[in-house]
Amino acid sequence: MVLPVCDVCLKSGMLCQGCENKLKKGEITQLDLDIAKILFRVGEGKIGFKRTIEIGDIVIIVTEKDQVGKLIGKSGKIVREISRTVGKKIRVVGENSDFKEVAKDILAPARISGINILYGTDGNEKFKIRVVREDSRKIPGRLDALNDVIKQLTGEETVLVIDRDDF
Ligand SMILES: [Zn+2]
Repeated sequence: MVLPVCDVCLKSGMLCQGCENKLKKGEITQLDLDIAKILFRVGEGKIGFKRTIEIGDIVIIVTEKDQVGKLIGKSGKIVREISRTVGKKIRVVGENSDFKEVAKDILAPARISGINILYGTDGNEKFKIRVVREDSRKIPGRLDALNDVIKQLTGEETVLVIDRDDF
C-alpha cells in the first residue's frame, strides 16, 4: 500500500516536516492529501495510489494495476465519495497500462467500439479510438483533454472520436 503522504500524517491529520516539504516543493498537492485521507479511512490502510493528474474538472488517479478495482470500490462507492469531497469527476487508471487499457478506464462507463491505427504525414502512428455513439454523454470530459491524459500516461498519440451510426 502506497500513499503519497505518510501514515503518521494521515492518522494525526497534521503534516509532518517531511510531508510538509513535499507539499511545498509541489511533489504532492492538496488534492493528493484530500484523496489520501479518504482512502486511508475507507481502505483501512490497504488502498493506495501513486499520483493524480488534474485536467479541467477531471481527476485521474494513478494506482498499481491490481489496486484499480479496490480503489473504485463496490459499484463505484469509493470513487463517488472522493468525487463528492473534491468536487470533480474521478477516473482511476493502472500504472504502466497500455493506451487501450488507459483509454478504457478513462472513458468508462462509455464503451469503446473500435481502434484503428492512423499514419500521419510525419510517419508517426496515432490511434483512433471510437466511442460507442449512445455512450457519448457518459464521456467524462472534452475529447482533446482526454487525448492529453492518455498521452501523459502512455506517451501514445490518440484521436478520440464518437462513432458514427452508419458504420
Ligand atoms: Zn508525513
